[in-house]
Amino acid sequence: MARYRGSVCRQCRREGMKLFLKGERCYTDKCSIERRNYPPGQHGQGRPKFSDYGIQLREKQKVRRIYGLLERQFRRTVKQANGMKGVKGENLLRLLELRLDSAAFNLGFTHSRAEARQLIKHGHFTVNGRRSDIPSHRLRPGDKIGLTSRGDKCVRISEALDGLEARTVPSWLGIDKDNKVGEILALPAREEITHQIQEQLIIELYSR
Ligand code: SF4
Repeated sequence: MARYRGSVCRQCRREGMKLFLKGERCYTDKCSIERRNYPPGQHGQGRPKFSDYGIQLREKQKVRRIYGLLERQFRRTVKQANGMKGVKGENLLRLLELRLDSAAFNLGFTHSRAEARQLIKHGHFTVNGRRSDIPSHRLRPGDKIGLTSRGDKCVRISEALDGLEARTVPSWLGIDKDNKVGEILALPAREEITHQIQEQLIIELYSR
């Protein structure tokens, strides 16, 4: 499947904020946002003016980039969120957080969502004891995320779990570091999704 292969730091600079796409580097002063906090390109240091549509578009691009989805996948997720009961914007964020790649990252198994996606595709993760190599696997409360025998030997996963103290695991997730097993304890509440996101703008964009 097509995937963005350019510099991910450019994406952060375009959105004007840290999207935490690169793992450990994002927490150091090597982060591009720390050094050059202006949009990339020849006109990056000018003063951009955004229309209402432009503001909605930037918000959508920001969220799509945080979760690493292609436009078609993202559009499909918005459609699902619109079809659910409750606040549509919150539904959207909940669906994104409940993806297997996002949960594996939030549980501390990996340094970034991109790394989680790669390791899932390489067959390192299980859901409820069965191997799952689908990054978009939708999780539910009660689901247990573990490692296959390959995943158990994976140095990158061990290193990420060792560095977990530096990160906070959201309260809707539980992690047993010794046994390398995580669990979805509840549905994520809006206030626990800490990225600065105005999800309503995205719903408005797609309802145009
Ligand atoms: Fe974004 Fe991380 Fe690059 Fe910083 S280091 S610009 S947070 S991807």
